[in-house]
Amino acid sequence: MSNERLQELRGQVDVINMQILELLSKRASIVTEIGKLHTSMGNEHYDPEREAHMLQALEQANKGPFSNETIKALFREIFRASLAMEEQQARAKIRVQRKSKDERTVITLPNGAEFGSGTFQVVAGPCAVESFEQVDEVAKALAARGVKLMRGMAYKPRTSPYEFQGLGEPGLQIARQVADKYGMAICSEIMDQSQIPMFLDYVDVLWVGARNMQNSFLLRALGKVNKPIILKRGAGATLEEFLYSAEYIVSSGNPNVMLIERGIRTFEKWTRNTLDIGGVTVLKLETHLPVIVDISHSAGRRDIANPLARVARASGADALMVEVHPNPPVAMSDAKQQLTIPEFNSMMDEVMQMA
Ligand code: PEP
Ligand code: MN
Repeated sequence: MSNERLQELRGQVDVINMQILELLSKRASIVTEIGKLHTSMGNEHYDPEREAHMLQALEQANKGPFSNETIKALFREIFRASLAMEEQQARAKIRVQRKSKDERTVITLPNGAEFGSGTFQVVAGPCAVESFEQVDEVAKALAARGVKLMRGMAYKPRTSPYEFQGLGEPGLQIARQVADKYGMAICSEIMDQSQIPMFLDYVDVLWVGARNMQNSFLLRALGKVNKPIILKRGAGATLEEFLYSAEYIVSSGNPNVMLIERGIRTFEKWTRNTLDIGGVTVLKLETHLPVIVDISHSAGRRDIANPLARVARASGADALMVEVHPNPPVAMSDAKQQLTIPEFNSMMDEVMQMA
């Protein structure tokens, strides 16, 4: 008898479960509509005041047996799930978001080097162009190891205005001349949209530094450029903010964007920044754009370059970026992190044997 009663009660619970499920699904589709309205009006999806009102109303209506705290905890879980769904739907609409597992952007440089096609590339060069001889010495070593994209940095956004700021246009001329000599392409950091025509005369890839990641005017202007763009993650930027910055460029007309993780600011002091390698693997899931790992600015030291290079490759990134200088201790910038040419060769030995 009591067994029959148990079955009957369980049956009632099963029906209620299905009713709750149906209501949750109905609620979710209404929330999706709300999410679309928020997006079209440019609003934040999370509205804490609205959430507080809903919880208050539930508390007032609650007649037990669940305590108010339990009811609020349960509904908070529903709100959280709905918000996550709304945000995911909003992201799914942006162009840089990967829509299917095998969607990928492949960027081909004028010398044929491919980024994003599954081969592992190395981007390297001095922190800054200092002289023809300095760049030439590094370039010769890079070309000998098959590097196809060299740093040709002529504008250096330094922390202090009293430090070396780069050679400017003459630096770009040196980089171009040397790169042509060794069949390499060059990338260089652009500071302002007014420099675009001049940069187009010299470089193959325009580079936006961490400090400019959210300069939307610059990003939009680079969307009108017919050359690939490298975008660095800001030191305090979330991955979502990083992707929205890439979206500025892509939605303005330039689909050829590569992302660089360069370390984020944390409380850790033994490295210059904290390399967010988990973030790299998430980026590889979330976006179809090529991802590069900067093992120099993230670490700020040269003694861990080899293990970081291996980690970069193992993370599934499309390339690593490293600074190389003929004589790092006398470098005009980033002396502590640039590799000597023998150190660069040792790093290449390690990373290339991983294939
Ligand atoms: C650089 O790579 O030259 C550089 C300045 O790094 P970041 O923009 O990441 O600080
Ligand atoms: Mn540097």
